[in-house]
Formats: sequence, structure tokens, C-alpha cells
Amino acid sequence: MQLDMFTVLVATVAVAFVLALVFLYFWASDRRAPWLAWLCGAYLMAASAAVLNLWRNVLPDFLIIGVGSALLLMAFGTGWQACRVFDKRRPLLLPLAAVITVWLLLCTSPYFMHDMGLRVATASIPAAAFLFLGSYELWRGRAETLPSRRPAALAFACFGLSYAVRMPIAGFAPFPLGGLPPEAWALGLSSVMGFSFAAFVAVLMVSMTKERQEALQRDYAQSDPLTGLLNRRGFIALASRVIGRQEYSESPFSLLMLDLDHFKSINDRFGHEVGDRVLVKFAAVLQEGVRPTDLAFRIGGEEFCCLLPNASPHDAKRIAERICARFQAASTDVLGASIRATVSVGIATSDYSGYDLDVLMAQADRAVYEAKATGRNRAVIAEVPPVGRIGMDLPRLSNSPHGRTA
Ligand code: GH3
Ligand code: MG
Ligand code: MG
Repeated sequence: MQLDMFTVLVATVAVAFVLALVFLYFWASDRRAPWLAWLCGAYLMAASAAVLNLWRNVLPDFLIIGVGSALLLMAFGTGWQACRVFDKRRPLLLPLAAVITVWLLLCTSPYFMHDMGLRVATASIPAAAFLFLGSYELWRGRAETLPSRRPAALAFACFGLSYAVRMPIAGFAPFPLGGLPPEAWALGLSSVMGFSFAAFVAVLMVSMTKERQEALQRDYAQSDPLTGLLNRRGFIALASRVIGRQEYSESPFSLLMLDLDHFKSINDRFGHEVGDRVLVKFAAVLQEGVRPTDLAFRIGGEEFCCLLPNASPHDAKRIAERICARFQAASTDVLGASIRATVSVGIATSDYSGYDLDVLMAQADRAVYEAKATGRNRAVIAEVPPVGRIGMDLPRLSNSPHGRTA
């Protein structure tokens, strides 16, 4: 069975147009995804290029070849912009306009218009460049891990490669792969590549949009709106993973439980707004006081907690005492009120309590109570005798600088 150019072009127009409508529909239902509008534009341009080709031999060559190819190049260039916009970069329209202008100027030359091989090779340069740039944009945003991102970058790169290959083979391959008279197999191959790319990109870009929304919702559900720290849900999601990693590598781990002192009385005396500001101030002190690899959470009203991977009891105590001192110094002036806010810290470490999250939390809680009972504004380590089994021997509590009682 021979492939008929007219049928292929009608199918291309239909597919590109339907996918453009799909993008338009998704963009209309979520205006926070402007890249879908850019993709809608790209697919409409590709559809228009195919529509013009339907009138091959009827309309003047400049319209079919010049404007038709310009539309296809603009479609690829707009696809590149969609990738930029997806990663919150501004669109770059100048290179796009420059390429189209140069192409249209070239098409005014009779010499250029009569050499099909030269035209195919020339048009393939910006086509490949735009597709590779689209791939590069998606790849360089890979810090945001979305499952469909790498396949989408790969789809752009593969299609870009299919255009790059046309440059050296333009002199001896049939149209539309090169400049020799058209042949059915070349038309079939080119159409399959075009269809596949259009379908892959449509599915993957819509998937990336959904995946990003899901990730944002997950972040939102796991963060505390007042302080910006991760909340209890975030703590539960991360703690077991972090502790498991430490256990696997047999590295030390410490957990801090931090409870603001007499916070109810701060609320009662200065008002809830000042109380909120104290919480925000404490969150800032906490984040600055821990190391970059540590994780801080607000797990309750005035209760916070920190995961300290690779922190020995001595390190944990030093960090906890630094937070106590800095908070006491920072909290003296809040919204014009002169207050004295302090924090008590309970520390549980893998050295004494093992790697079980429940045990670590129970131990750290006990240490917080001990810190409160012995005067507040201090850090206490929950210490289990190394030979004892957790749950059988009651932990001892220590205030000594190295976490061990003399
Ligand atoms: P202690 O030193 O023993 O920890 O005493 P405390 O007063 O800090 O502890 P208590 O548990 O009695 O009081 C905690 C207070 O924290 C009570 C509650 O109103 C307040 N609180 C909880 N969440 C918030 C919040 O989001 N904003 C403000 N301003 N206050 C809060
Ligand atoms: Mg409390
Ligand atoms: Mg408290």
C-alpha cells in the first residue's frame, strides 16, 4: 500500500489541531499553567503549516515553502518557549523572530527556492536547534524531580536529532528527509516521527503539569503556614527515612525536641499576635542554629523538633545550647513588647536510644520534661546505659556538657 501525501497531511492537521484543543482545555481549567497556552500555540502553528501544504501545486511556492516552513519552525521555537515558561524562565522571542526573518529572506532568492536539498538542510538547522534547546531547558530544571521530565527532555532531543541528521543526508535522501524527489517510505518515516513526537510531548507535558501540582499540594500539606517549617505530617514522612539511612550506614543520629517555656503566659500577657511573632522568631533562630544538613519541624503549637544526621551526643548538645542562647538573646523585643522567651530542649541520640523513631521521640520527650523540671532554658540528653535494653531499663537524664553524668 502506498502512502498518499494528501491523507498524511490531513491526518497531521487533525492530530495537531486536536492536541492544540487539549492544551487549550487544560490551560483554560488551570491558568497557573501558561506553558500549556504556549504549547497550544505551537500545535496550532504546526497544524497551519500542514494546512498550507494541502494546497501544494495550487498556491504560490513562497506561501507553501516559505511561509509553510516558517510556521513549522515557529512551532518548534514556540515549543522551546513552552519549556522555558514551564521552568519559570521568560520567553526568548528575539532569536525566534530573527530565524523566521532570515528564513523568509532566503525564500525570496530564486536560487535558494530551486534547490530543495539546500532548503531542507537549511531549515533543519534551526529546527534541530529549537528542539535541542527545548530538551536542554527541561534537563536543566531537573532539580525539580518530576517523573515525566526526563522522558520529555529525551523526546525533544530525539526529534532534534532526527532533524540534525537531515543536514548531512539532504543531498541524497528523498523528500521530506532530503532534497531528492519524494518517496513513500521517506514520507512514512517522517510522518511516524512527527506523530510520535507530537503525541509524546502532549502526554508528557500534561503529565508534568499534574505531577507539579501534586508535588505542590504535598508540600502545602506538609508545611506550617505560620513559620514555613515542615509540620508534623512532614516530620512523619521524613523522619523514618532519615533515621533509616543513618542506621544503614551505622552513623550517629540525634533528635531534638524543643518546647518554648511558659508560652501560655506570653500569650496571656502580650496577646496571641505577639505569641505568633515569637513562634516565627524561634523558627528563624532554629533554622539558623542547626547545620545545613539538619531538618527543622514545627510539630505542635509551641513544640518543635530537629533531625540531626551524623550528630554525636556532644554535637547535639552544642547545637541545642546554641539555639537556647540565641533564642533568649533574639526574643527580647517583639512588636515593641519587651519579653523574655526561652526554650527547653530534650535530646535523644542513637548512641543511647538506638534508631527506633518511637523510642527516640519518647526519650527526647522525657528529656524535655527533665529540662523543664530543672529550671528551663536548657538542653538535656536522654541517656540509656549502653548495656541496657530499651524498654527494660529506664533512661537516665544528663545535663553534663558531653551528655554523660559523671
Ligand atoms: P511550659 O514551659 O511548661 O512548656 O509551659 P507552656 O505555657 O509553654 O505550655 P502549655 O502547653 O501550657 O501552653 C502552650 C501554649 O501554646 C498554649 C497555646 O495557647 C499556645 N499556642 C499553641 N499554638 C499557638 C499558636 O499557633 N500561636 C500562639 N500565639 N499560641 C499558640
Ligand atoms: Mg508544649
Ligand atoms: Mg511550652
